[in-house]
Amino acid sequence: MVPTTPPPTLHVASGDLRAQEVDVLVAPAFKGEIEGPGTGAVLGALGLDGFPVSHAFRGDVGQTLRLAAPDLPARSVLLVGLGRMVDADAAALRDAAATAVRAVPDAPSLATTLAQIHPTAASVHAVAEGLLLGAHADQRWRTQGDERAPALTRATVLVPSSRSAGAREALARAAITAGATRTARELVTTPPADKTPAALAATLGELCADLDVEVWGPDELAASGCHATLAVGGGSEHGPRLLRLRYAPRGSTGRVALVGKGVTFDSGGLSLKDRTGMQAMKSDMAGAATVAAACAALGELGVRVTVDAWLPLVENLPGARSYRPGDVVSHPDGTTTEVVDTDAEGRLILADAVALAAATEPDAIVDVATLTGSAAHAVGAYAGALLCDDEGLLGALREAGRDSGERLWPLPLWPELDRFLRSDVADHRQVGDSPAGDPGSDAILAGLYLRRFVGEVPWLHCDLPAAWLGSGMGWGHLPEGATGFGVRTLLSWLGPDR
Ligand code: MN
Ligand code: MN
Repeated sequence: MVPTTPPPTLHVASGDLRAQEVDVLVAPAFKGEIEGPGTGAVLGALGLDGFPVSHAFRGDVGQTLRLAAPDLPARSVLLVGLGRMVDADAAALRDAAATAVRAVPDAPSLATTLAQIHPTAASVHAVAEGLLLGAHADQRWRTQGDERAPALTRATVLVPSSRSAGAREALARAAITAGATRTARELVTTPPADKTPAALAATLGELCADLDVEVWGPDELAASGCHATLAVGGGSEHGPRLLRLRYAPRGSTGRVALVGKGVTFDSGGLSLKDRTGMQAMKSDMAGAATVAAACAALGELGVRVTVDAWLPLVENLPGARSYRPGDVVSHPDGTTTEVVDTDAEGRLILADAVALAAATEPDAIVDVATLTGSAAHAVGAYAGALLCDDEGLLGALREAGRDSGERLWPLPLWPELDRFLRSDVADHRQVGDSPAGDPGSDAILAGLYLRRFVGEVPWLHCDLPAAWLGSGMGWGHLPEGATGFGVRTLLSWLGPDR
């Protein structure tokens, strides 16, 4: 088998882009015929006056143009477009760096002035993350290498010499945050037969070997009242687990709980999905992968808050022991839910885990989950939807999203929808029964449902449409398939500055 491409080594250097002895010089360009740092000099060395060098390349976001460089030590120059100069923030630099790496898959080495557009550590961090994420190619199930997999092994990030110390720190931090993101991608990419609940619990436990790790089997789940999780996992031969992770730094400054949905494969259960609906359902454990990958990086980043993670892991299959529409399941807080749709399994297992987390009275609970198609309808494929009625917590996660370049957008928790979660037989109804059907409300109703289990604890739910992108949907630092979306936002939120 072909291994996952190792991360390229990154270096900070100062000096002239033209003089770099690498395969490709990555030179930024803005829309409006404006050259980025070093770009004019490189074009001059190629005997070009500057922009536009071709009618096709106008410096738009996502555009690249490769030029041969016969008179330079480098083999070629890659112009990478950043769009309008005013829009070229750190997130744009991250995306441009990843786009550049994927545009030259044959190049083992490159140098770039992208981080010189803004002379800050944040821009060096963003460019480094873009290079590392763009170079990632998971080939564990191939016997022949994929020609689209980047060959990059070495990249030089050029910065002014006065900034090299800060830039080196930013590179070291990017290696951790991008590494955690790559880990989450690989967990999601893993075929579902290779990550049954018990197998995934073992894999995540190894990943987090530096943390306190506990794996609950069916007996512990029953003893703690997680009957919804047991019901959802009942149809599979591979029974449910709950993985507990605890990161407890000395001199801890607070305590937060993270919850991640870990449906290792979601067939829909008896409410069976169709062929296309089931295709990417190995990605339904992306919430758990995101939380575990982030937790594994907390120590290296020097995070100072205690983090408790609650990861329910189940496989949702039809079978003789499947749970049924009409069943009533109970949760650790003693309340009951009427099952309506066995394909809405995520909110049931999250309710159990959120109730367990709330009982420990942390400062905040953040749950991440690939929960509803409705969230993707609302915010699109490239984003996460936030549901939260605590302004402080919502603001902190939105700021972390801006810092990580992950697009997060809030949806409302309209109180008048809550009555559609009333059941005729139980305390809660699993999905809404609004008379109009109202499919657009499902992401909101899932949030309202989960809020019933958080008690007084500040809580935020993040629905993750962007955890998986379909064929042809790759863009910027997000590849098609597993993206690892959410890991860097969690790490930014929890970061040592918190
Ligand atoms: Mn489902
Ligand atoms: Mn699901």
